[in-house]
Amino acid sequence: MLSIIVPCLNEEASIPLFYEEMLKMLAQLNAQAEFIFVDDGSKDNTLSVLREIAEKDECVHYISLSRNFGKEAAMLAGLHKACGQFAVTMDADMQDPPSLIPQMLEAVASGEYDCAGTRRVSRKGEPFIRSFFARRFYAVMKLFSDIEIVDGARDFRLMNKAYLDALLTLQERNRFSKGIFPWLGFKTKWFEYENVERTAGHTKWSFWNLLWYSFDGIVAFSSKPLAIASILGILLFLVSISLIIFIVVRKIMWGDPVDGWASTICIILFCSGVQLFSVGVLGQYMAKTYTEVKCRPNYLIREQQ
Ligand code: UDP
Ligand code: MG
Repeated sequence: MLSIIVPCLNEEASIPLFYEEMLKMLAQLNAQAEFIFVDDGSKDNTLSVLREIAEKDECVHYISLSRNFGKEAAMLAGLHKACGQFAVTMDADMQDPPSLIPQMLEAVASGEYDCAGTRRVSRKGEPFIRSFFARRFYAVMKLFSDIEIVDGARDFRLMNKAYLDALLTLQERNRFSKGIFPWLGFKTKWFEYENVERTAGHTKWSFWNLLWYSFDGIVAFSSKPLAIASILGILLFLVSISLIIFIVVRKIMWGDPVDGWASTICIILFCSGVQLFSVGVLGQYMAKTYTEVKCRPNYLIREQQ
């Protein structure tokens, strides 16, 4: 059996279309499947749409979270509920083509791979500035983190039970799945596809959301920023020592008084900037540690079926 996990935030318009398409695909595939829709604190009629579908079709289950916990938490809630031999996570907006599922399932069911991942090879239809920063993000991640984060990898993934069980052993609150999946290891087969624009509704990610998400990712999967802060400190220390020696020698040899306070102010500003930056970096890691230490659940369920 295949468990299909779909996080939904304000997707009342997309869910019926998605469900229809999936049924068509499943009929061709001739496989047993269960749907697990996760309503991530939607403000529209998503929940009633889900209730309606679940009423008619006993293969459809839904989980309604107590508020919006974010896509990562919603996917986790669905994965915890999955009973199938295989599980697939996908978006409700048809940006993850159901037509890829048969090939993905074949790859994983053959036993050769544990997981089938997908990546977008184009970003057609996406605002230029977003694509630009997305590319920069992958470049920075490559530089900073020890794990390999695949450019354009989507959350559209099909996995077997062993992979799913391994995934569920990770207890962290700061779940950055783009990093968690490669961290897990296992054998992954990649499928590529062109970007598809969403069928209905609109994206939940603003530019700023994405920017914060990328900072989270860096903090979650790399401690290099901490090292960079230390190296900056050491470099500045060396520069200041050399300058002191230079000024003292100049004073002794030529009796040249040091003039100009503008330069002094610049240096003070520069150094306090670097200090604040380093304290900020440290703070980011502390904040993440704080959320982990509190051990709050990743999500809370209000209603499920
Ligand atoms: N989503 C969610 N919780 C959130 C944000 C998004 O469950 O806080 C769901 C959303 O309903 C959709 C999927 O995650 O099914 C991907 O979201 P979206 O299409 O907005 O992202 P994009 O495809 O633009 O990256
Ligand atoms: Mg989408």
